[in-house]
Amino acid sequence: MNQDTLQKLVEKLSLEKFDRRFSHTASFNRRLRTTGGRYHLKSHDLDFNPEVLKVHGQDIFEGIILHELCHYHLHLEKKGYRHKDKAFKELLREVGGLRYTPPLQHQVEKPQWQYRCTGCLLTIQRQRRFNVNKFLCAKCRSRFELIEQE
Ligand SMILES: [Zn+2]
Ligand SMILES: [Zn+2]
Repeated sequence: MNQDTLQKLVEKLSLEKFDRRFSHTASFNRRLRTTGGRYHLKSHDLDFNPEVLKVHGQDIFEGIILHELCHYHLHLEKKGYRHKDKAFKELLREVGGLRYTPPLQHQVEKPQWQYRCTGCLLTIQRQRRFNVNKFLCAKCRSRFELIEQE
């Protein structure tokens, strides 16, 4: 699914389930971490997490689109668009949207890279690999070596 098919899917679900038009922009946002989607109060645009589609598939992803469309339509109609609002809860139930984004398992199990200083044997962990030729140990100014990936 690309930007264009995402936009069309959101427009289609909006018409089918809400009988209202979605006339703003829906885009993928790779910076979203644990959230599946986001509604922007100022621009009225929607952001979606491409990882949710990849990990959980189309059904769950559509459930998240419906959730964000509830925020969208209620806000534009000046009704209770927040999670705690009655209007939001009712509309969400009506259209069959998801309340929460299911956890993205791989985020819990992010790779941990372990490095050991070749001088003082200090070990450090990093989420990302780094170039051992570029960083020196702060304590003894020696280089690190990669020891394992958990
Ligand atoms: Zn929400
Ligand atoms: Zn050191």
